[in-house]
Amino acid sequence: MTYDVACPVCGRINRSLYLEETEGWMECECCGNSSQDRNFRKRAKIPVFRKDQKKRTGMYLAVET
Ligand SMILES: [Zn+2]
Repeated sequence: MTYDVACPVCGRINRSLYLEETEGWMECECCGNSSQDRNFRKRAKIPVFRKDQKKRTGMYLAVET
């Protein structure tokens, strides 16, 4: 599973990111700023989210590969 994430700094869409491996962190291909997706940050605090996985996945522009 990869994710498309809009950079919070410049708005550029960064595609096909493996956010699960980086705990939501990504480096923008356009401006180079690092940011953490807030949905992953939330999950790290409350790991009990697992049963809501379907709903949570819908919050991303998820791309099956
Ligand atoms: Zn950016």
